[in-house]
Amino acid sequence: MAVAALEADLAGRARRGLFFPTEAHLSPRDALACLVGELESRNIAIETADGLDFSDNDNEAVLPTEVRKIDCRGLSASDAMQDLRGVKGEMLVIRSADIRLSRPVRLLHPRIPIYLVPRGDGVFMLGATQIESGNRHAASVRSVLELLSAAYALHPAFGEAEILEIGVDARPAFPDNLPRIRRRGDRLYVNGLFRHGFLLAPAMARMTADYLLSGQVPEVMDENLN
Ligand SMILES: Cc1cc2nc3c(=O)[nH]c(=O)nc-3n(C[C@H](O)[C@H](O)[C@H](O)COP(=O)(O)OP(=O)(O)OC[C@H]3O[C@@H](n4cnc5c(N)ncnc54)[C@H](O)[C@@H]3O)c2cc1C
Repeated sequence: MAVAALEADLAGRARRGLFFPTEAHLSPRDALACLVGELESRNIAIETADGLDFSDNDNEAVLPTEVRKIDCRGLSASDAMQDLRGVKGEMLVIRSADIRLSRPVRLLHPRIPIYLVPRGDGVFMLGATQIESGNRHAASVRSVLELLSAAYALHPAFGEAEILEIGVDARPAFPDNLPRIRRRGDRLYVNGLFRHGFLLAPAMARMTADYLLSGQVPEVMDENLN
């Protein structure tokens, strides 16, 4: 009953659920485009080049007093941090005109805990697997089958949905899956955002800025070799 009052299309499909009224969600691609637009409107240029050379060891040769580089290369920074690992995540973007959800819906399942996030116009993000692997290039048949089967179990209308995209990447994570800020000489490493990059980014950015501008030591700093 209560489920149906919140999500009419799930009427009869779930007897019980947990409801978090203040839970929020955003569309990451739209959010990033919006942030880039905002920075550009303030004449802040963003250069993108995946091949920037981070191999120089100027931070080891001398130990300067100032941070000159902030390294937030995600999993690529595992060349500098041996305890950083990849946790593979696979997701799909699907479209169905036959089901409407007004908020993210998670399936509490011991093995396949999917979530479906409505993106508007019948588009849903269906995620996500969590596999101990740094492979970020190929979604497996099993993962895609399991994600789609779970969506189908949540509502059979998803059986007729269109598959718009299959996505895969590896999340950067430390052994306890908590984020870190580390200082090594002139370099500040900001990393380990694991499954919560979008959620944690503002707090990590604030801690980074506070450290650089006022010397306030971040609560997530576990190494300070300055
Ligand atoms: C399937 C999936 C679903 C997810 N869902 C969510 C979610 O719902 N909510 C959430 O909060 N998080 C989610 N995440 C996690 C989120 O994507 C990560 O936590 C986040 O991307 C980590 O951010 P990052 O900036 O540290 O690393 P990245 O996003 O990996 O960014 C690192 C950047 O550095 C660049 N780079 C690397 N090397 C160089 C170089 N030498 N020169 C220049 N640039 C370089 C890369 O191109 C990349 O753009 C999900 C992840 C996956 C895989």
